[in-house]
Amino acid sequence: MKASITDFPDKFYRGKTVLVRVDYNVPLREGKVEDDYRIRSSLPTLNYLTSRGARLVLASHLGRPEGKRDMSVSLRPVAERLQRLLPDRKVNWIGECIGQEAEKAARDLKNGEILMLENLRFHEEEEKNDERFSRSLASLAEVFVNEAFSASHRKHASVYGAPAMLQYRLAGLQLQKELTYLTKVRDEPDRPFVLVVGGAKIRDKIDALRRLIEKADRVLVGGCVAYTFLAAKGISVGGSPVENDFVAWAGEALRKEDKVMLPEDHLVAPSIDSASQVRLVRGEILGELKAFDIGPSTSQTYMSTVSSPVGTVFWNGPMGLFEVREFSHGTISVALAIALARFRGATTVVGGGDTVSALGKANVGESEVSHISTGGGASLEYIGGKTLPGIEIVNNK
Ligand code: ADP
Ligand code: MG
Repeated sequence: MKASITDFPDKFYRGKTVLVRVDYNVPLREGKVEDDYRIRSSLPTLNYLTSRGARLVLASHLGRPEGKRDMSVSLRPVAERLQRLLPDRKVNWIGECIGQEAEKAARDLKNGEILMLENLRFHEEEEKNDERFSRSLASLAEVFVNEAFSASHRKHASVYGAPAMLQYRLAGLQLQKELTYLTKVRDEPDRPFVLVVGGAKIRDKIDALRRLIEKADRVLVGGCVAYTFLAAKGISVGGSPVENDFVAWAGEALRKEDKVMLPEDHLVAPSIDSASQVRLVRGEILGELKAFDIGPSTSQTYMSTVSSPVGTVFWNGPMGLFEVREFSHGTISVALAIALARFRGATTVVGGGDTVSALGKANVGESEVSHISTGGGASLEYIGGKTLPGIEIVNNK
């Protein structure tokens, strides 16, 4: 078990400077934060620490400035949003993340105050896990808190090098929740365990899929992933995307596991640009037609499987090209069924950037899912059984 901020007595934090690695890699539009979900997710940890008198130094990356000061990905708008979300805390901003100015700003913090550092990736040393850069970051604080699960699969200075130089390395509340849910899904899901998988590429998810398919009692396949499975079964999929490298693996999975369910009808069109020529096809897809969504009868089956009494549902990957309205029904159906499953007592975990935004499209709220995993690649690596550097470095209890 990993040590978390709640494992220490309240008085431990009074007057201590705490470096919190957050993931504020949020979408910006015209210099404003477009979606502040990631900022809001960190608030419980920030409130917990500041209300106990800690002084917080927040570090994050944003975008890919590749070692240069690129003001289009400055964290300044994020600091402003954070100040608005925490009106009774002082959020300071200095426009740097290391050096004398940063050191002075960290020293000048009063109990309960926050200092937001500038984008770590303005320095190429961050991604290189550079020792001197790590030392500069570590010198700002006495305690390290990891609240950036989604950055924990990277061996970067703020995730690995800097915390390694501090004695106290603790999990933040959100990171702890992420670990609890993902570990449960990976190792001992409540049964029956239903896995819903879709999205674009098997390649990005193969290790997680291997593990989860083995664990699951039912696997519902949609999205592009489904056509590779159908191709492995020898069913014609027309011009739908097939990952040739994984056809053999899919065939193997199907032979071993009769729990895998594949779409039986599809919404097809000649191309993405011809959504107006959508047709419903049952069984084989002929010619060059491409499938962009699971059909209504498949949606019906998937919905009732997900929402019948189950123990756990894990969902990663949309069922179709849900960004286009004509092809969003399958994905929306699954999202609604997942909300219903939770209502009926199941533990539901949804992961993946696009899948989470599909929840929003379906008007399924954050509170209607047991856990929304914002980890992306990190979550999949964790479920796939990899050790993540940023988790490894957190103290054990
Ligand atoms: P996540 O980000 O949730 O892990 P992925 O990135 O794997 O999900 O996949 C999401 C993308 O897959 C979406 O942009 C969606 O439009 C696309 N997609 C799913 N099914 C299809 C399909 N049949 N044809 C084309 N694109 C699809
Ligand atoms: Mg994606």
